[in-house]
Amino acid sequence: MNKQELEKIKQKALEEHIPIIMDDTLEIMEKYLKEEKPARILEIGTAVGYSAICFTEFLDKDGVIDTIEREEERVAKARENIKKVEVEEKINIYEGDAVEILPTLNEKYDAVFIDAAKGKYPFFLKESLRMIKPNGIIFADNILYKGYVLSDYNKHKQRTAVRNLREYIKEVSENPNLETEILEVGDGLAISRMKKQL
Ligand code: SAH
Ligand code: MG
Repeated sequence: MNKQELEKIKQKALEEHIPIIMDDTLEIMEKYLKEEKPARILEIGTAVGYSAICFTEFLDKDGVIDTIEREEERVAKARENIKKVEVEEKINIYEGDAVEILPTLNEKYDAVFIDAAKGKYPFFLKESLRMIKPNGIIFADNILYKGYVLSDYNKHKQRTAVRNLREYIKEVSENPNLETEILEVGDGLAISRMKKQL
């Protein structure tokens, strides 16, 4: 892949305040995924394709990433970026709302990266659990949402997001088939490994 182009894409996204994956979060995911050599990754929330492009480095030979984005302009930008770094054959973009697209998917994934509307995390989890392979990993970014999630913060317009992120943490923690860690890297990262088949 073209690393110079990737750096340009990253800088441009940062300038435009697009919430791309933070370096420390990516580093942790790299540690997990380089070992797994995933054949198939599902990403919910493509934005301009930055994280998906980074994940192509962790894929097994012939591995593929399916990624979902609902904003038309971002999808167009992502396609452009993916072409620039020459990873078109490794990334497959679904354009539309993940709430509608996920139920239509029937693949099995080695890893899922949840990085979209926080109010929908419990739904994204449910769909991810349906498609994750045994021993697969579900990552959820922004799980601590600026620290709101673990504080008694609940009077704000972000209240629904915070409630749903708390619900997500509760569900992954209580699911006997998952082994979960919540890390304070970036904006918070939940890492849940599927212990066995449901
Ligand atoms: N993963 C990207 C950043 C994603 S930002 C990276 O690290 O490079 C979150 C993106 O999710 C935004 O572009 C937003 O438009 C998209 N999004 C939010 N809710 C969504 C939904 N329900 N369906 C599809 N995309 C969604
Ligand atoms: Mg994020």
